[in-house]
Amino acid sequence: MAERITKREDDYSRWYTDVIIQGKLADYSPVKGCMVIRPTGYAIWEKLQNHLDQMFKDSGHVNAYFPLFIPESFMHKEAEHVEGFSPECAVVTHGGGEKLEENLFIRPTSETIIWSMYKKWIMSYRDLPILINQWANVVRWEMRTRLFLRTTEFLWQEGHTAHATYEDAEEETNLILEIYRKFAEEYLAIPVLVGKKSDSEKFAGALHTYCIEAMMQDKKALQAGTSHNLGQNFARAFDVKFQDQDGQQKFVWATSWGVSTRLIGALIMTHSDDNGLVLPPRMATKQVVIIPIWKNEDQKTQVMQFADNIYNAVKDHFDIILDDREQYKPGYKYNEWEMQGIPIRIEIGPRDVQENKVVLVPRDTKEKQFIGVDDIRNKIGSELVSMQTRLLERARVMRDENTFEVSDYQKFKEQIDEKHGFYRTHWCSSVECEEKVKDETKATIRLIPFDQSGKKGPCMVCGTESDQQVIFARAY
Ligand SMILES: [Zn+2]
Repeated sequence: MAERITKREDDYSRWYTDVIIQGKLADYSPVKGCMVIRPTGYAIWEKLQNHLDQMFKDSGHVNAYFPLFIPESFMHKEAEHVEGFSPECAVVTHGGGEKLEENLFIRPTSETIIWSMYKKWIMSYRDLPILINQWANVVRWEMRTRLFLRTTEFLWQEGHTAHATYEDAEEETNLILEIYRKFAEEYLAIPVLVGKKSDSEKFAGALHTYCIEAMMQDKKALQAGTSHNLGQNFARAFDVKFQDQDGQQKFVWATSWGVSTRLIGALIMTHSDDNGLVLPPRMATKQVVIIPIWKNEDQKTQVMQFADNIYNAVKDHFDIILDDREQYKPGYKYNEWEMQGIPIRIEIGPRDVQENKVVLVPRDTKEKQFIGVDDIRNKIGSELVSMQTRLLERARVMRDENTFEVSDYQKFKEQIDEKHGFYRTHWCSSVECEEKVKDETKATIRLIPFDQSGKKGPCMVCGTESDQQVIFARAY
């Protein structure tokens, strides 16, 4: 079965699709550009959702739900917003067999409908802040799609908060960015850079956008989450004012932020290998599979009894499966569970029963360990913890080894063609230089990292002295 997965070095893009299709994570749907998320893939989404939702709630946020349809006139109220989103919107023109008086946009994001409601709910400073999050689907009409990374309909969470001051909104934007960073590194085991988007890459209608960016195994960048300070743009568009403590009427300050099913794409591209999915233990819905091995009925009875005992001894501590299906050979089972990314495999054969031990195989290193039965619970626990750390560190090393400081534009052009990677360089803040790089190399400014050296240097393109470094990369 495993040979059906294309090798990464042969065709990375095909490998990615094979991991998803063979691992039964998702499938193509009859509607072009839309995907079906299969139970194995959806279980990862649920896991991700549970962890993040808890982090949002622990920091004072609450969930709500707003309609899928947005009146066309709402979209036109914020000029940059409509310009940014209109080209990719799906529009409903008919309902109940009749042409609608006003077209309805399928939400590409919900700022407009939510701020139309905040106008009803916010009167005074006492009504602030509002810290609402929504788990929902959105639609953005995409011409070129790719499973999980870019699909016409996708699942996400979108937070929409309302505040009395710029400082409060800014604090919220940063708080969420930190939640995203922590979640990416501690749960997904994906190391991320944190920083600010350039003006041309920011969200349509925002003052500024912060983001987390990750490097995939093919050394391309993937934007993994964004947090926007929207200023008062949406409050002005929807006339949302509050009476402040000084008695003055003021416009409300806003933020919005989101991560999507794209994170599953990031998870796959960061950790998986030529045998299929590799999942960090904290994201695996099943952590351990026990595979009993026997050749005849006598052995079967012994091995199964031994395997049952082990299963019962650890089942309350880990999410564990005993794969006792008789219609499949052990080799087939190994491949199947590897493709699904189960972190630990435990093999038990007749000799193991005699020697009172098992063979433990971690999904990432595949290095066999022989474990005495008395020690098994501790070993599983410590192996899951060290695998979680190992995957994060491995990805961090890969990223750091492929991050380069450059100041020579010609050299940058040659090198990015040769091996992708992240390029840290000075940038003069002009749109012209940014556009030139994009046109000539397809690399974009992924972010202006918070972590700056403080050194001055010449803009890679025009030579103007600048005190700001940015990361250029080709991105998904
Ligand atoms: Zn320049």
